[in-house]
Amino acid sequence: MAKSCLPGHPLVRPDRDRARRSASELLWQRLALPAGRAAPDLPSVRPLRTGQPSPGCRNCLRGSSVSLRLTTRCTRDCFFCFNPEPRRDGLSLDAMPVRGLSEAIRRMRLCGLRGAGLSGGDPLLVLERTLRAIRRLRRAFGPRFYLHLYTNGDLATEPALRRLRQAGLNGLRFNLAAGGYRLAAVRRALALFQDVSVEIPVIPGDLRRLKALILELDRAGVPNLILHELCYAGVNRPRFAARGLKAKPCPAPVYISAKPVAGSEAAARELLRYAAARARRLSVLYCSWATQERVINPRGWRWRQRALIRGHKT
Ligand code: SF4
Repeated sequence: MAKSCLPGHPLVRPDRDRARRSASELLWQRLALPAGRAAPDLPSVRPLRTGQPSPGCRNCLRGSSVSLRLTTRCTRDCFFCFNPEPRRDGLSLDAMPVRGLSEAIRRMRLCGLRGAGLSGGDPLLVLERTLRAIRRLRRAFGPRFYLHLYTNGDLATEPALRRLRQAGLNGLRFNLAAGGYRLAAVRRALALFQDVSVEIPVIPGDLRRLKALILELDRAGVPNLILHELCYAGVNRPRFAARGLKAKPCPAPVYISAKPVAGSEAAARELLRYAAARARRLSVLYCSWATQERVINPRGWRWRQRALIRGHKT
């Protein structure tokens, strides 16, 4: 999938974004209530989880990973997709276009990153280019650099998965919300990779299906399920409106880049409770939009700043 439908980290923050972030920070401070008087609409800022996060999530939560998008083309057309139209091939790092892989590697090295998520669109639509990218990243950053790939699973055939593993990929994340929550591709990946996660936005109306999915994933031996708060941005807002999905009641400027949907976080919390009570091995992590904007993006920004400063001193 769909790192595209999920938040990314800024590789370099222009001053303009910093000013907007400060304004948002101020609003958050004003919203903070004394202990014991939590407002029901205030979102979860810290990530919530029932077990250990996946290796890719650990990197992301530290701020030490980047999203490397290879194409915005996809086999699907999810209503929650953030990718702009027209969809096209082309590299970007944290949604900032780069001229090619050499430039991407140079920037990633400057920022001292420890991992990358290869995203789209679906990177399996450009399999040869994806394989070349994995091999080059592996050569450039060595065996400890963590590489995972987002896909909706449509093109995750066994031969393709074998080639990805041979090229040096560590793990996969499946957006099962794109295709009716079917597990076939996930099962194929489990035979070849240790790190196989499912990463989906929580669509409130799918709550019953998602509870069943938790049990299916647990039985199949999937180690991690990552839940995201369903959000919309300018590009996909009309499609949310057509489905009757409304923004969560919260002062708009608190969120910088997208708006969470009402009911998604409540459904995610319900799923966490359900997984804690019913899943034996599956670890579930919930990442709200506030987690992204208030925790992950600032950590990513600080990680990059520190690496840049270290680089200047040496
Ligand atoms: S799977 Fe859906 S959300 Fe992900 S890139 Fe394709 S269309 Fe977008």
